[in-house]
Amino acid sequence: MASSDGVTNWAGNVAFAGPLHRPADLDGLRRTVAAAASVRVLGSGHSFNLIADPDAGGTLLSVAGLPPRYQVDPGRGTVTVAAGLRYAQVAERLQADGLALANLASLPHISVAGAVATGTHGSGAGNQGLASAVAGLELVGPDGDLVRLDRGSDGFDGVPVHLGALGVVTAVTLDVEPAYQVAQHVYTGLDLDALTADPAAVTGAGYSVSVFTDWHAPTARVWLKRRLDQAPAPATLLGALPADTAQHPLPGLPAAHCTAQFGVPGPWHERLPHFRPDFTPSAGEELQSEYLVPAGAAPAAFTALRALGPRIAPLLQVSEIRTVAADRIWLSPGYGRDSVALHFTWRKDPAAVAPVLAALEAALLPLGARPHWGKLFTATPARAAALYPRADDFRKLAQAHDPEGKFRNGFLRGLLTG
Ligand SMILES: Cc1cc2nc3c(=O)[nH]c(=O)nc-3n(C[C@H](O)[C@H](O)[C@H](O)COP(=O)(O)OP(=O)(O)OC[C@H]3O[C@@H](n4cnc5c(N)ncnc54)[C@H](O)[C@@H]3O)c2cc1C
Repeated sequence: MASSDGVTNWAGNVAFAGPLHRPADLDGLRRTVAAAASVRVLGSGHSFNLIADPDAGGTLLSVAGLPPRYQVDPGRGTVTVAAGLRYAQVAERLQADGLALANLASLPHISVAGAVATGTHGSGAGNQGLASAVAGLELVGPDGDLVRLDRGSDGFDGVPVHLGALGVVTAVTLDVEPAYQVAQHVYTGLDLDALTADPAAVTGAGYSVSVFTDWHAPTARVWLKRRLDQAPAPATLLGALPADTAQHPLPGLPAAHCTAQFGVPGPWHERLPHFRPDFTPSAGEELQSEYLVPAGAAPAAFTALRALGPRIAPLLQVSEIRTVAADRIWLSPGYGRDSVALHFTWRKDPAAVAPVLAALEAALLPLGARPHWGKLFTATPARAAALYPRADDFRKLAQAHDPEGKFRNGFLRGLLTG
């Protein structure tokens, strides 16, 4: 079944060459893939660049119409879910079964398959990106063939962050753990000089920590999420004090859209995301960029961004600093190193944002910054891939799964041809 309405991404800055095909079952999906000249999958459309855009004449496919599979394997400690389910849907089912994921991104509205495909992450010095929880994938290959890939198989470290290059993912198997409780505390008045001098004193103070700044004002705010089975929240954070009113990460927006604060304990999935699933996550009129720098380069990166603060702040809704633990996934922005993630929510003004992004990348890329695959960046995909020691191995993997390049588009060709 195909919808011919104009199809855009969530932010509305990318209009896809439709129509959007939404098969209702696996056989229909396999037939559609086998018959297509080229294919790209659209998840929940929360990426900001052309990563999901098919070539002219190519097929844009959604897996959201497939049956909502949800299957816990208690022996293996995993759940297998339909690729098009959103984290909010999976988390509700897991919580009802007394289970949890190790981490979530800042909003629960994103599809599981699309999020892991681009290396989406939450925060936490000890928390890897969401793709590290992937224990297996089921996908449909270029001839409509069904393939299952599991952790431990040869080359699996290349699989979880695949950018859509290996096929159409129909199911994802994720590691689960017993459900846990989290309490969220917000602090205001964090001095940026103090943070620059000792970032880990803040980012390591909870299970998941986010710092919000505009790189221009002298102080920042901190969202600290702690597991109840871990240390209590600190009374102060480098001098920052607990907020006395509920806060939204975007200044001026209602805190009713956000998950509960003031240390009120609640289930993991109702505290780890900043935003409640029943509300639009943010102002809507926005663009996003993000760069992961090696943790040791964070002070230099902060200093560079503060120097650019007068250019950044007028275009910014807010900037978020998070941490991501090292992993072994070839195209994960956290590959091989503990990272500090520098996120920017921009006002929706692409022409004004582009030169600031270029200036920002001129400062951050020499520090080893890797752009988030699903957000806006000005470096070519090939330049971005050069920051990944296993990029060549990924190219070989993609070639083996898709020799004729059925799943490639302009974005991927730039990356895969090196
Ligand atoms: C408001 C907002 C908040 C965000 N917060 C965070 C955050 O906290 N942390 C973070 O790291 N990122 C964040 N992001 C970015 C977001 O997580 C990524 O862009 C992610 O890829 C979105 O998932 P999606 O399903 O919308 O993917 P899409 O944008 O639809 O697709 C992304 C890629 O995945 C591929 N893909 C999707 N589904 C499949 C499938 N079934 N089979 C094969 N390929 C597939 C697509 O072809 C494309 O290449 C945020 C984005 C928004 C809009």
